[in-house]
This record gives sequence, C-alpha cells and structure tokens, in this order.
Amino acid sequence: MKPFLDPMVVRPSDGLYFSQTMRGEIVGGLTVPHPPGTGQGQTSSASFLPRMASALCRLVPRLGALGVLRAWSGFYDDTPDGFPILGEDARLPGFYHANGFGGHGFMLAPSATRRVARGVMGEATDLDPTLFGPGRFLDPARPSTAERLQLG
Ligand SMILES: Cc1cc2nc3c(=O)[nH]c(=O)nc-3n(C[C@H](O)[C@H](O)[C@H](O)COP(=O)(O)OP(=O)(O)OC[C@H]3O[C@@H](n4cnc5c(N)ncnc54)[C@H](O)[C@@H]3O)c2cc1C
Repeated sequence: MKPFLDPMVVRPSDGLYFSQTMRGEIVGGLTVPHPPGTGQGQTSSASFLPRMASALCRLVPRLGALGVLRAWSGFYDDTPDGFPILGEDARLPGFYHANGFGGHGFMLAPSATRRVARGVMGEATDLDPTLFGPGRFLDPARPSTAERLQLG
C-alpha cells in the first residue's frame, strides 16, 4: 500500500500490533496464548490468519483488501512476573541467566547484556537482584506482576 501509517499501532486488549514498512507492507501480529507444555504455536497455522485478519480489519477495514505475503511464528519466553531473568544463579555459581525477555528481547538486548557481561567479569552492576535475579522465584511471597501486553 502507499504509505499512510507512521506510528506502530498497538492494542493492549488483545496484543494486536502492526506498522507499515518503507515498502508499504503491513507487518503485525497478535498474541495467541497456549496452555503451558502443549508445544503449540511453534509453526504458523491456517487458523491464525483469519484471527489476525479479523482483528486487523475491525480496526482498519480497508486493510481487508490486502493479500498475505508470509507468516511466521515464535515463542515469547515469558516469566511468571513478566520481568527478564538476569544474573548469576546462586545455586550454580558461575552460571549466568539472560533470558525471559518476552516480546522485547531485541530492544532490551544491548542494555541487558552489557549489564550481565559486567556481572560475569566481576564488576558492579545496577541490576537489582530482587527484581531480575533468578533467585526471586525461590521466594514464595513474591507478588506476581505479569505483563499482559506482548509486542512482537
Ligand atoms: C513473533 C515474535 C516477534 C518478536 N518481535 C520482537 C520485536 O519486535 N522487538 C523485540 O525487541 N523483540 C521481539 N521479539 C522477542 C525477541 O525475539 C526475543 O526476546 C529474543 O530473540 C530472545 O533472545 P534470546 O537470545 O534470549 O533467545 P533466542 O533468540 O530464542 O535464542 C536462543 C537460542 O538458543 C538455542 N538453543 C535452545 N536450546 C538449546 C540447546 N539445548 N543447546 C544449544 N542451543 C540451544 C536456540 O536454537 C536459539 O538459537 C519477538 C519474538 C517473537 C516470537
């Protein structure tokens, strides 16, 4: 399509997101939760396309005239509280975590990995272990603050 959309559009209620590339294509996605341990969602599926199309076209009806060029699928590595897991594991000294970024790993990687690398080198970091350390999940009293909006 000719360029008509500057911002990335995000709908928190269902995680629909889309933007327009410089070539005019619409690139977007929709979070589809799967029961833990099922292994579903590892590949694109025919059932996803009508779901995505319906969510998109309810918001911008004229996008209903577009054809689908390609689709892909992947996991969001969510944590129980929605924060990444960063830092050394006290149960296995020398083993460092840098995972659980959900749908934000590309954006967070430069900042997060710099801090984890400093920790590996034995340097001080400003990473709060109560917020990010793997040990927080050993505390049964930790409140859940899971983020529900996923951006892909
Ligand atoms: C559809 C989708 C869209 C996304 N869009 C965005 C976005 O727009 N912006 C953004 O910031 N983030 C986005 N993300 C999130 C981002 O892709 C991830 O947060 C990021 O890739 C995580 O990086 P990682 O290195 O932690 O894990 P991964 O990229 O998953 O890398 C882990 C690697 O370990 C390998 N591996 C696994 N097990 C083993 C094993 N036993 N031995 C050896 N190797 C192993 C895997 O093959 C993989 O290569 C998106 C994610 C998805 C699924």
